[in-house]
Amino acid sequence: METLTHWIDGRPVASKSERAGDVYNPATGEVQRHVPYATVDEVDAAVASAAKASESWRHASLATRTRVLFGYRELVNRHKDDLARLLTLEHGKVFSDAQGEVQRGLEVIEFACGLSSLLKGEISENVSTDVDSYSLRQPVGVVAGITPFNFPAMVPMWMYPVAIACGNTFVLKPSERDPSVTNFCAELLAKAGLPEGVMNVVHGDKVAVDRLLEHPAIGAISFVGSTPIARYIYETGTKNGKRVQALGGAKNHMVVLPDADMDLAADAAVGAGYGSAGERCMAISVLVAVGNAADKLLPKIKERIAAMKVGNGLEASSQMGPLITRQHLDKVTSYVNQGEAEGAKVLVDGRKLKVPGHEKGFFLGPCLLDDVRPEMVVYREEIFGPVLSVVRVATYAEAIALIHGHPYGNGTAIFTNDGGAARKFQHEIQVGMVGINVPIPVPMSYYSFGGWKQSLFGDLHIYGPDGVRFYTRNKVVIGRWPDPQFRGVELGFPQNS
Ligand code: NAD
Repeated sequence: METLTHWIDGRPVASKSERAGDVYNPATGEVQRHVPYATVDEVDAAVASAAKASESWRHASLATRTRVLFGYRELVNRHKDDLARLLTLEHGKVFSDAQGEVQRGLEVIEFACGLSSLLKGEISENVSTDVDSYSLRQPVGVVAGITPFNFPAMVPMWMYPVAIACGNTFVLKPSERDPSVTNFCAELLAKAGLPEGVMNVVHGDKVAVDRLLEHPAIGAISFVGSTPIARYIYETGTKNGKRVQALGGAKNHMVVLPDADMDLAADAAVGAGYGSAGERCMAISVLVAVGNAADKLLPKIKERIAAMKVGNGLEASSQMGPLITRQHLDKVTSYVNQGEAEGAKVLVDGRKLKVPGHEKGFFLGPCLLDDVRPEMVVYREEIFGPVLSVVRVATYAEAIALIHGHPYGNGTAIFTNDGGAARKFQHEIQVGMVGINVPIPVPMSYYSFGGWKQSLFGDLHIYGPDGVRFYTRNKVVIGRWPDPQFRGVELGFPQNS
């Protein structure tokens, strides 16, 4: 059976590690290939390659960098369906959803193609007599990315196109559960003309991550994954003197007011709750029904769930695929069991689902839990599966208090026809990304993506303008031309005149 290679110095490199993991097809439950778990030496080789490449890439002209990124954009666009197919085979999400993932990643590449505008500094003429001052944005140097399983193409694309456009070199440690798409992207970057060593990929687990966190040649780390690991990455990376942005988990609430368009809200809740089997950090996992909204909304949601087709993501009729691993399936199922034991009403029970011909696949049907209360484990913890919890509250104020009381603050949405209520929600809610009659408010590539509270550790959001700030250091220059009239030693603090 195939074992994946790392990608170091512009070429595939076979691992000598004795440790490796299985990569499954979640729809069939079969192991498709093995992924090596890099040794410290292998991580060091990737970082050394990136450090060497940094010596020249940081000086590459904007024109050169732009050309490579445009070339890469063309190749990703041409291979969109190949990438999507790989995603479906290893992640399990349905093919159309995988295509959507690649498209949103492509948009970040397109943003990075605009680097010549993005990297413009500022200039102030004559700040003092014959003195000009200006700022430059320069690359950090070697940057590392550590990414989760749920968007194996898009989340790395939130990072490396922007980092590379800014003149950095990159070492990516993708998720070990669906790693193949990353190797494909590294190959496409090479085909686009990216010099050797500018992009490196090491596969692995905690051993590789820990080496990246401590490696003295790495200047910055972008992480996306679960909150406990995000906190660990942030604390360890910053302790080692690195710039770190670490995006964590989520528990996104969708508030439905009684005046909302209930058909629109039902469509949104089902799409955002069960799309990609709920394995999205922007999935809706809590439906907060205000007043009598639940009585109107829940029958419509049940109707839509009944019409949903769960199956192999490569079959065109499938709308929702399997979960990533058997272990994760068991964990999500145990949350449903626990919710039921704690008193939640299981309105739709996906635990009984069987997908004919895919008996060993990691499938769980959509689950809808009603009467969920804030003290229940299903409410407090991130489940990351096709489980939508309904919490009923009497007032808008209670809905807000619920969201503010939750430790996560990634995304949220409100469904209403009352513009004033929507405006109030957008103004006061303590969450990083807000949808108004939009359930999954993922910012465009020219904004930046990031949650609040325990959904993000660090100051800057990812991609967009914040991405450019994160991957560059600011430098301010003050210059005096022509030759100054006044010469002589001046010990006083410089003043402008
Ligand atoms: P994860 O935290 O288990 O893994 C993320 C990365 O960290 C992987 O590359 C993994 O190999 C590495 N890792 C795992 N355990 C580690 C350890 N002990 N020490 C060092 N490194 C370790 O996350 P996942 O299960 O792959 O992805 C799902 C999670 O990611 C969910 O919590 C989801 O909400 C979150 N997520 C967040 C965002 C966001 O933008 N905020 C986006 C996507 C996913």
